[in-house]
Amino acid sequence: MIKGVIFDFGFTLFYFDNPSVERYYECFKKGLLKSIARLKEKQVWNENLTNEAFVKNFSKKREHFFRKSLKTKMEYPTSLIFQNVLESLKDEEIIDNLDNLTESAYNELAELYHSCEEDEWEPFENTKETLEELGLKNLKLALISNHPNHKTIKNVLKKHGLFKFFNVVVTSAKYGKRKPDPNIFYHTLKKMGLENQGNSVIMCGDEYADIIGAERANLQSILFERKYKFPFEKEINVSNLRKINNISEILDFLE
Ligand SMILES: [Mg+2]
Repeated sequence: MIKGVIFDFGFTLFYFDNPSVERYYECFKKGLLKSIARLKEKQVWNENLTNEAFVKNFSKKREHFFRKSLKTKMEYPTSLIFQNVLESLKDEEIIDNLDNLTESAYNELAELYHSCEEDEWEPFENTKETLEELGLKNLKLALISNHPNHKTIKNVLKKHGLFKFFNVVVTSAKYGKRKPDPNIFYHTLKKMGLENQGNSVIMCGDEYADIIGAERANLQSILFERKYKFPFEKEINVSNLRKINNISEILDFLE
């Protein structure tokens, strides 16, 4: 008997209209300009520093941490990238001091950076009714997202009235490691009150990290097949892989 279901967030419960690399960059640039405006308000700025130079610095660091995360499988949260960028600008004596920046200020910068993305994610047509139906079945529901800012995921869920359906919401930003590391799944099971019961829990996601992670942690898995392919996707080699094309089809796998 199934006791719990864990969902992935992006392209499983939510979609981003017309996703493309250009669209992502455009969206993040918009967010980053908001973070820059906040830094100026807080007077953590220097008139010789241009927005372009800051964007360039930030992009370089983000790329650096992205490559590092591929190697280490760790998540480097966006707040940490801001801290890193600003500390190096201070070391180079471009910015005088960072005294106005507390931990919550770094979190706020990260939230602004992801604010455009927050507006773009929309739930699939059947997401809400499927979660409602699952909720009626006395199952534990959780979400695991590989995302560098915990608050962004929470905000999107709340904005669409879906946060209330989840017993547990885990992000790699908060936990520190990314799917497919089995530990993020063990951590989630424990928080669901289903420790060592992975074989009665279904993980549903749209990519390699979800399915292979679930296999490593001995969970059941179901692939949500996306309509479009992403570049550089890893092939999922799992025998008898169960697949669905509509999120509501998960209801057929609960017996
Ligand atoms: Mg996904």
